Amino acid sequence: ADSDTADEAVRATCDDATICKRFATSKGYWKDPYIQYFTRSVGERKAPEINRGYYARVQGVNHLLDAFIRKAECDCQVINFGAGLDTTFWRLKDENLLPRKFFEVDFPTVVARKIHNIKTKPPLSKPIIETHSTDSLLLDAHSLDSDRYCIIGADLRDISNLDEKLKKFQLNSELPTLLLSECVLVYMTPSQSSNLVHWAAETFHTAMFINYEQVNMNDRFGQVMIENLQRRQCNLAGVETCQSLDSQKERFLKTGWEHADALDMMTIYSMLPQDDVARIERLEFLDEKELLQQLLQHYSICWATKDKLNLGLSQLAF
Ligand code: SAM
Repeated sequence: ADSDTADEAVRATCDDATICKRFATSKGYWKDPYIQYFTRSVGERKAPEINRGYYARVQGVNHLLDAFIRKAECDCQVINFGAGLDTTFWRLKDENLLPRKFFEVDFPTVVARKIHNIKTKPPLSKPIIETHSTDSLLLDAHSLDSDRYCIIGADLRDISNLDEKLKKFQLNSELPTLLLSECVLVYMTPSQSSNLVHWAAETFHTAMFINYEQVNMNDRFGQVMIENLQRRQCNLAGVETCQSLDSQKERFLKTGWEHADALDMMTIYSMLPQDDVARIERLEFLDEKELLQQLLQHYSICWATKDKLNLGLSQLAF
């Protein structure tokens, strides 16, 4: 029962991400016309440093993701692990950057909710139907499989089940593949996340893994962040790997990845296109510059590559 409670608390974190992203987009930090279909309302005000943090997260991840898809000229796959209510599939469709197939994996109950939203909201279902070639679209309560978009209910800690399900839905191990996890691995033990990362390195010869999560958690500020999450009964089984940028990279370098890099979000924020950063910094007045810096120093993006096809993946950076 305890582990059920902890998993339920983890599942609920996808609503936080969506609510915060919706609030930031309502303020103009970036555009996402689809996120409104996954939350009931804009919700209460979030502090400017939270909005800037989400801006850095979304822009940072998108920068690497889009660069990978361009390198592969869309002849690739994307797998978003712990995708929650993420809207990237719809953004890529609008920007003419759709990979051959876009997979999402999350717990079956989260997937069921997402499928319900897609089914009942035409702006979400239309792009899926439009990019599908036949009349036979698999759509039931727990999975949705079309030519270009597939959403699977599975536990990421059970690799053989995950592998079986992805293959059932035509995952192609020969295609360049981008794997993404955004605030997901921290909820798994170091050995569980290593197994996932190792499975990816073993399965694909040409791939990139992008992982966004907490870092530098062993200082005072990090301890407060951990306490806040624990108060909500979230099981932070993976927090050990969030000690440093080196421990983030090591998880990949020890499991068969050729190349790994990691930067904290303060560094990434300073490397994002500065005209757009200047624009968003004018949106809301920020009193506590130091708090923003602290917050950004406690999140990171780690990315790893292997590149048998010589696409030049190790050059992808900020
Ligand atoms: N990646 C999304 C985003 O950034 O908007 C959602 C992030 S949310 C903080 C974490 C997500 O990971 C939740 O949707 C949760 O259900 C999922 N998750 C965590 N552990 C998982 C596991 N073992 N198997 C499947 N999904 C998992």
